[in-house]
Amino acid sequence: MAEQTLFTKIINHEIPADIRYQDDDVTVFADINPRAKVHLLVVPTKAIASINDLTDDDALLVGKLVLTAKKMAEDLGIAADGYRLIFNVGRHGGQAVPHIHLHLLGGEPLGFGGFATKAASK
Ligand code: AMP
Repeated sequence: MAEQTLFTKIINHEIPADIRYQDDDVTVFADINPRAKVHLLVVPTKAIASINDLTDDDALLVGKLVLTAKKMAEDLGIAADGYRLIFNVGRHGGQAVPHIHLHLLGGEPLGFGGFATKAASK
């Protein structure tokens, strides 16, 4: 069996996380290193490594990730003021965990480029 990703372990409650929502397809938990007042990760149960690995069969799932993020923003009361949704992809995109995840950032005005690193900007 392939080795589980860090996020699969969180989804399976094998390691602790601040889980805010969970159903069969998706889990939402707080980012351990928040870059904004609200910083949640919306993660599919299906451990797809990156956006590069999506197929047409995943269209509904990707839609569900976005709609789940939208609902979380509404439930948290940050939707009207706006927020940011980010998929980091691969090395240049700054993706650290090879299991697709949608960052939901908000709750305060956001600067641009909060995820930029020196290495990534070369
Ligand atoms: P990315 O750079 O797009 O792959 O984002 C990975 C995110 O996962 C980073 O923002 C990390 O802070 C976050 N992260 C890493 N480990 C954990 C964890 N155990 N629980 C919650 N978030 C985590």
